Formats: sequence, structure tokens, C-alpha cells
Amino acid sequence: IVEFRKVTKRFGDLVIFEDFDFHVNPGEKVALVGPSGSGKTTVLRILMTLEKIQGGVVTIDGEPLWHEMRNEELVPASEAHLRRMRKNVGMVFQHFNLFPHMSVLRNVTEAPVHVLGLNREEANERALELLNMVGLAEKADAHPAQLSGGQKQRVAIARALAMRPRIMLFDEPTSALDPELVGEVLNVIEQLAQEHDLTMLLVTHEMWFAEEVADRVCFFDHGRIVEEGDPARIFHEPRNPRTQEFLRAVM
Ligand code: ATP
Repeated sequence: IVEFRKVTKRFGDLVIFEDFDFHVNPGEKVALVGPSGSGKTTVLRILMTLEKIQGGVVTIDGEPLWHEMRNEELVPASEAHLRRMRKNVGMVFQHFNLFPHMSVLRNVTEAPVHVLGLNREEANERALELLNMVGLAEKADAHPAQLSGGQKQRVAIARALAMRPRIMLFDEPTSALDPELVGEVLNVIEQLAQEHDLTMLLVTHEMWFAEEVADRVCFFDHGRIVEEGDPARIFHEPRNPRTQEFLRAVM
């Protein structure tokens, strides 16, 4: 469903990816792990159309994300193309980025109403289902400031799901939370992973969690995937020296 082919990504002179290849199958849950600065978040941001690429091709369902066909020629994507492609993807950030001046319900319904064109009633109904799923239906009328970090993050998950994305991206969704709130957010993500055929990409430093939910772990180092495979195998019998060293330090 997702493919990176020979992708180059630079920030000025800083090369993040060169000839980077990566693919994700439909419904697959993939954990991206590895040291800070190795490019994990950048993969998600490219898919979310928040970062441009400087070379290569990224496709979603075979359709180029950053390019489009015009007059039988591949040209850089227009805003309209990016907007359309973006609908495939939902993202949950480290910092929840909720709209502070809106109720929880309104946070979840805003994009479905304005971007998907649902009417308020439909959007509310769907939002309440999702809030119920993340255990927060009774907070529908609260404002974000009245919620704990874990609750805010669960609202952010409901908000992303309200757009009915086919691919969900999680960027260290628990790293800004107090330790006692991590579990409730991971439970929601795990439930999502088990019950839906959503494709999920998860950047995380919670190795035990990656082992629990992921079908595949990709270990990143300096813009390369140096080792990937079955989570239990990667975490308990890593072969690459960089993976071994990293896991010794964090586990
Ligand atoms: P972390 O776990 O710390 O989030 P990461 O593996 O997700 O690490 P990325 O966030 O993808 O790493 O960053 C890869 C590299 O790109 C880092 O060296 C980072 O400093 C650099 N980088 C990211 N965004 C920018 C930017 N907007 N301008 C310049 N450099 C950037």
C-alpha cells in the first residue's frame, strides 16, 4: 500500500535519505525503531505530505504521492493532488495538537465536516462512536484543557480516525505523557491494531509495545533500514551490530 523507491530527502546540505527503499503491505502494522535522528519521523512526515522529497518516488496504492501524471508526463504534485492523496493518511503526533478553543466533539468533527463534507449530524454520530471506542464519550463536551495528556492523545486518535484513513501514522504517541498515562494510550492503539484492517506505521521508543503490536519491525540507523523482520527475532536475536548496541542500551 505504501512504497518508497530510491527516495532522497535532504534538509539543506544534510542528507537524511539517499536511495531509500521501503514498503508496507495493506493491513500491515510496522514499527519503526532506532536512534534519534535516524529518519523515522521523516518517513511519516513525507507520507503525511509535510515534507517534500528531492528524488525518487513515494506511492500510495501505486499512485505517486509527490508527483502526478499530466499530459502523460510525471510532474511535481499540485496542491489539489496532495490534498486528495492526504486523505489516505491519518497521523497522531507526539504533542496532541488539539484545537484548544473547541470542545472534544468539535475537535473530532471539524475535518469530517469541512474536508469530507459530512453534515453535522452524521459527523457527530460518527465522532461519538469513535470517542466511545477510545473510552471518552462522556468527555464529548469538555475542552482539551480539562483533559489529562492521555485523554488528549486518545481524542487525537479519534480525530485522526474520523477521516477514515486507510493508513494511520503514530509518531511517538506516548513520549510526551507521564508514565502512568502511557498504558491507556497504548491500549487504544493495540485495540485498533487488533480489530481493524488499518495499515499502521508506528514510531516508538517503547520496544515491548512494538513487539506486542507490530507484524514487522524496521530498525533505522542513519537513514537506512539496517535490519528488519519479525519483532521477537529483532528484539531477542538482533544480528546487526548497530541493532544489538541500540537494544542493549534501551532494553
Ligand atoms: P527522533 O526519534 O529524535 O524523532 P528520528 O529518527 O525520527 O528521530 P527524524 O526526526 O526523522 O529522526 O530526523 C532525521 C534528521 O533530520 C535529524 O538529524 C534531524 O535533525 C533532521 N531534521 C528533521 N527535520 C528537519 C528540518 N526541518 N530542518 C533540518 N533538519 C531536520
